[in-house]
Amino acid sequence: MVLHRLEQVRTRMADAELDALLVSSSANRRWLTGFSGSAGSVIIGQERAFLLVDARYVTQAKDEAPEFEIIEYMDFYRTASEVLGGIEARRAGFETEHVVHKTWQNLQAKIPECEWVAVDDWIEQLRAIKSVDELAFMAKAIAIADEAFEKLLPHIRPGVSERQVALVLERLLRDGGAERLAFDTIVVSGPRGALPHGAPTDKLIQRGELVTVDFGAVWKGYHSDITRTVAIGSVDAKQKEIYDLVLRAQKAGIAAAVCGRTGKQVDDVAREVIAANGYGDNFGHGLGHGIGLEVHERYPRLSRLGESVLAEGMVCSVEPGIYIPGWGGVRIEDLICVTAEGPQVLTGATKELLIL
Ligand code: ZN
Ligand code: ZN
Repeated sequence: MVLHRLEQVRTRMADAELDALLVSSSANRRWLTGFSGSAGSVIIGQERAFLLVDARYVTQAKDEAPEFEIIEYMDFYRTASEVLGGIEARRAGFETEHVVHKTWQNLQAKIPECEWVAVDDWIEQLRAIKSVDELAFMAKAIAIADEAFEKLLPHIRPGVSERQVALVLERLLRDGGAERLAFDTIVVSGPRGALPHGAPTDKLIQRGELVTVDFGAVWKGYHSDITRTVAIGSVDAKQKEIYDLVLRAQKAGIAAAVCGRTGKQVDDVAREVIAANGYGDNFGHGLGHGIGLEVHERYPRLSRLGESVLAEGMVCSVEPGIYIPGWGGVRIEDLICVTAEGPQVLTGATKELLIL
């Protein structure tokens, strides 16, 4: 797997006439090497590949990244310069999105023998297509979240605060085997449901309110991401109308997520369902995002700006919402995999409107 990934990167390097590529993004580093440590840099040449780490990670890197030559550094630029000199690199790529300005200045000043060439999103694009192993890791991260949601339901009740619900949920995720939380858990109730990314507060949940929870687990570095909205005690006509509308939009968006469509075309389908019913202005965010080693991956992007084309093996969220200031909101989010046979829903939790 690692060798296949290196091959893909080397093909792009050859097309761009690069002798070397410096990989700085931690998710890209992990995807390429298998090394799960929190610091280190990769240098890929056409014949050799190196993982540069500091003393904390030498043993772990040798263990996790056997296809790479592990080089320990104290002074990163000096060691990188030696490695690049050793493979006679003249043109070296760097990842524009992951190199801060100071590092860019240092690369030029301290490794002047290389011409530094900007590289945009190469590995991010390759990462969009998930392998069988990656899909299995994500399936586990999703199963942990599904099970936690099921067990959380009895805890969402009148008189309990959003913060308490989040705490119970986070505990359930960890108990269920999550390495860590995929992101800060969102729990919003009643009028606070109008905040798409509201953090849980001490507000108490009340009868007659909708509650939206958005959360995920990490398993072997891979993320899950799910949103469900539930009703407390009862549901009125408007709540039901908005919920049904978001669910219809979500199902239409999922059905539209087929190979060959752009992210914008898929977004359009779901957005149209909401707009046709008069709530177009209440759905401000994009329909979905790629997910994997990061919770928000750039490919594919289902949004009005989504230019990338869906292909077999891509995994993304489909998460329309309607947010009405002063009233509240509804969002429903599943993860799907784009397959040759059509979209496959990975999330298992029910989307029926639960009245707790
Ligand atoms: Zn989410
Ligand atoms: Zn999401």
